[in-house]
Amino acid sequence: MNNQFDVIVIGGGHAGTEAAFAACQMGAKTLIISSSKEAVGGTSCNPAIGGIGKTHIVKEIDVFGGVMPMAADRAAIHYRTLNKKKGKAVQATRVQIDKELYRKAVVDLVLSHENLTFCQDMVTDILTEKHSVTGVKTTHHSYYAPSVIVTTGTFLGGIIHIGTYKIPAGRFGDKGSSQLADFFERHSFQTGRLKTGTPARLDGRSIDWKNMDMQSSDLNADYVSRGTFSLFNPQISCGITFTNEKTHKIIADNLHLSAVYSGQIDGIGPRYCPSIEDKIHKFPEKDNHQIFVEPESLTDFSVYPNGISTSLPQNVQDAYLRSIVGFENVSIIRYGYAIEYVFINPQELYHTLETRKIKGLFLAGQINGTTGYEEAAGQGIVAGLNAVLSIDKKSYIFSRADSYIGVMVDDLIRTGIDEPYRMFTSRSEFRTLLRTDNAFLRIKNVPRGTFLSNIQNNEKNILLKDYYYLKEILLNQFLTFDIAQSLDVALPADGKKRNFYELLSHPAYADKIKTVIYKQYGHYKNILDIIITDGEYQTYTDRLLKFQQDIKEMQNFNIPQDFNFKQIEGLSQEIFDRLKSVKPRSLYEIKDLKGITPAAFMMISKYFSK
Ligand code: FAD
Repeated sequence: MNNQFDVIVIGGGHAGTEAAFAACQMGAKTLIISSSKEAVGGTSCNPAIGGIGKTHIVKEIDVFGGVMPMAADRAAIHYRTLNKKKGKAVQATRVQIDKELYRKAVVDLVLSHENLTFCQDMVTDILTEKHSVTGVKTTHHSYYAPSVIVTTGTFLGGIIHIGTYKIPAGRFGDKGSSQLADFFERHSFQTGRLKTGTPARLDGRSIDWKNMDMQSSDLNADYVSRGTFSLFNPQISCGITFTNEKTHKIIADNLHLSAVYSGQIDGIGPRYCPSIEDKIHKFPEKDNHQIFVEPESLTDFSVYPNGISTSLPQNVQDAYLRSIVGFENVSIIRYGYAIEYVFINPQELYHTLETRKIKGLFLAGQINGTTGYEEAAGQGIVAGLNAVLSIDKKSYIFSRADSYIGVMVDDLIRTGIDEPYRMFTSRSEFRTLLRTDNAFLRIKNVPRGTFLSNIQNNEKNILLKDYYYLKEILLNQFLTFDIAQSLDVALPADGKKRNFYELLSHPAYADKIKTVIYKQYGHYKNILDIIITDGEYQTYTDRLLKFQQDIKEMQNFNIPQDFNFKQIEGLSQEIFDRLKSVKPRSLYEIKDLKGITPAAFMMISKYFSK
């Protein structure tokens, strides 16, 4: 094999495959080196892609012709629209996948690309010269490239814990990556330890499904990729069951044996994906917790009980699982475990995900302190794109204003992390504008001749033309006396002339105006839906933009040192804890604190502006 490449990607997980595919699409000769070919595209935890905030990222990846959205649709066995009753900005399709089909889709898409070479090996070192990357060393060879992307997930310094048992590993069944961890130590990268966990996998044949509620796939849900027009697979149902008092007693009695509670693990876990022992310890008042019982495949029997990840010993897992309705006689395929691993402080990076210390070296995915497949894949796009552009001293920065990928990268780099970072829509100050339905239109300045083929750019231009054409019409179509009469609505009491676009954000008119618009312009269906949603949010969006302007003026406002933030209604415990410990003196300081969401910042600013 020729050992000279444009881009080398270490790792074939979600960040790695996305980065490599992006680089290949841009014409770069790309090498993926991954410790196991079997594990390329592997999903270490839940068999699902998407979620609130996460699907938003996947839709953005789709804009760049990425892998995850296409693979998710190809492997989908259950779709669900989340937050159906809420506004469009916080709705999202979650796709439950067949893990093997997902892996196969990723392998088919990425490894077959003409610009890609795959090598199964373990990278042991990264080669540098005068603070620039030159290549990598594996157990058997050396390979050279001006850009190297590290996407090693939980493998750096990984240790698996099950009760008191612990073993160095990257994840179950995979060796960890301690030699590569030495590279980062040698170059004085700031690191920390985090942890995550996963539940036991159950044999579906031993589950008593008839005693559970079943939830069928949502047949009206959106596909995640724009290129999908029909289902690829038969759709299956998921079960729903609950923990109960007996389960809680077993766990509470054995809490001291959990790797997390025995003090064996000190890495910080994902706040929003707590283990079952965390839930029982932190919410003793709750007498049950919901479990979604999700088959992992159409062809094997493995089932993922979503909501009960654990690091308790095996005999305790046996006992508490069998106390749950439907699991009375369950057979366990693999026990749950926690994994502790090393992450690199993302403040070591530029917004391109290139390291500040070593030119041409990029980091993406869980290694940067994030959690989740989607967050990893989103960073993969950033790193893949920039790894190629950087060869010609160019870059592409994702903006907070037009993408969640931009929000994530900016959050990571501006404030760093001290717990695994996952995406929520509340992290964006522009969330009414950053929706899943408009990703294709809102992401600006996508570099030409890079990901988007000319066909995609043409398609986008046509959609944009239609968008502005129709919006202009709605802005110039006013509610006249005659139209008001025909719709059986009163003219606005303040006597102001209002156009159709404005009226979309007024509940008294919105539904009737929408009916008229769909009747007249229904043939523009897809684009019309987007304009109408923009119109519905217009008042709120305007208020948001004005607020952004206002707070700029009061950022230096002094906050009394003994101020009790409990006085501000609506702040989450997480945010309150953060403010209590940091005791910020100004709004300016609060804005850049880790974990402060734009929504929380808005509440705090509003309080002080009064
Ligand atoms: P991975 O998908 O882990 O890929 C890393 C890749 O790097 C692998 O292909 C590996 O083979 C390769 N590799 C590592 N070191 C080397 C080396 N030295 N040389 C060559 N190749 C190497 N996310 C959630 O959102 N919710 C959860 O509940 C959740 N639970 C999890 C539980 C567990 C036990 C684990 C392990 C992960 C969990 N995650 C969870 C996280 C999710 O799996 C990751 O966020 C996501 O897979 C990260 O993608 P990545 O590409 O960064 O890394």
